[in-house]
Amino acid sequence: MSRGPHQPAGPSDWVRRARAVMPGGVSSPVRAFGPVGMEPFFAARGAGARIFDDAGRGYLDYVLSWGPLILGHAAPAVVEAVTRAALDGMSFGACHRREVELAERLADCVPGVEMVRFVNSGTEATMSAVRLARAATGRDLILKFQGCYHGHADAFLVMAGSGVATLSLPDSPGVPAAASRLTLTVPYNDLEAVDAAVAEHGPRLAAIIVEPVAGNAGLIPPRDGFLKGLRHRCDRAGALLIFDEVMTGFRVARGGAQERYGVIPDLTTLGKVVGAGLPVAAYAGPGELMRRVAPAGPMYQAGTLSGNPLGMAAGLAQLRELDRTDPFDALARRASTLVDGILAAARSRGIPACGTAVGSMWGVFFTEGPVFDFDGARRADAEFFARYYRACFERGVFFAPSAFEAGFLSTAHTDADVNETLDVVGESMDAAMDAAMDGAT
Ligand SMILES: *Cc1c(COP(=O)(O)O)cnc(C)c1O
Repeated sequence: MSRGPHQPAGPSDWVRRARAVMPGGVSSPVRAFGPVGMEPFFAARGAGARIFDDAGRGYLDYVLSWGPLILGHAAPAVVEAVTRAALDGMSFGACHRREVELAERLADCVPGVEMVRFVNSGTEATMSAVRLARAATGRDLILKFQGCYHGHADAFLVMAGSGVATLSLPDSPGVPAAASRLTLTVPYNDLEAVDAAVAEHGPRLAAIIVEPVAGNAGLIPPRDGFLKGLRHRCDRAGALLIFDEVMTGFRVARGGAQERYGVIPDLTTLGKVVGAGLPVAAYAGPGELMRRVAPAGPMYQAGTLSGNPLGMAAGLAQLRELDRTDPFDALARRASTLVDGILAAARSRGIPACGTAVGSMWGVFFTEGPVFDFDGARRADAEFFARYYRACFERGVFFAPSAFEAGFLSTAHTDADVNETLDVVGESMDAAMDAAMDGAT
């Protein structure tokens, strides 16, 4: 089954050229493959469940542009819609029908969504949702969970210090300490830590923001009662609850985690699947809150390219296809088959592993587990993961190049693709164990 080494010995010409003109040679750090000790991968095209590099080699793709491509690469319905839209012009800077149609679609699908403001990235969506929470409550502080990613705005580049209600330090130089001091962080799934933070800072708390299923520290589902517990605590403290569903939207259920777990947030952020691979995101909520946004209300937020006609066309086409085919149960079953297969392969080789699938998101940690929070995730064996990762990649399977990322599945992935992947996974675990015994990494 091995298709030979896919990774050239040193950096290619393109990698060298990229590094000369782009920091690290990439437009986003995760694309550098640093955590698995590889050179960046240059994609040339994608088709269905496969992505092809610039030498024409195909890989079964479980990254899917980090989530958006729930129909797989170059889904005909999406390509056709975008092509048709492009013929009418790339951007209007004026209202058009497709943004109304997509907003209506989101209001239909997602329980907590009545009104929508479109933006261009998940980062913009969460940043704006927090501004709205502060505007609505007249308070400054936000509470987030360690290991949750909400984009790269100043307020969110904070996860520091374990312990309760740490008044945090920035994760990145350039984030003013004054900004990070407004962000409290506590461990995921830990309501006692939330209680302690609320007891100390409740009257200043504008919002609790959470990934309702954490997907940026590996995949960590909420424990029973966690999301409901956040809802109660926000209500008691007079703070807003923000579900960052940029990743979970249309992934863990059609209506996102709020539908799956029956907990309705005050504000919702969406992205990824909503734009089908184009730069589209949104923040959304009940009219009572959203009418505070300019020009309906005083909270300023704007965007030259927001509601872009190509992005709206792509998102609409993808959501219509999801409505037409209702693939959610089938996706979830296949994601479970994949995770169960990986865990069985690990178990039969004595490799500690735990993991799970939630809808079409899935994740495996190479640790005994169970994993409930970021500290638990960090116990995973990153060195073994890197060896295993490289062996999978050499054999034509593209997973996210870090031990702390969720995986995805698309409707283009067949049972045969999953079986092929599991064959590769078994071989790669053997290869990774052999490499460990040889002392090679
Ligand atoms: C990807 C992601 C973001 C950031 O979205 P960008 O479009 O990369 O800015 C925010 N929140 C969550 C949960 C995400 O997964």
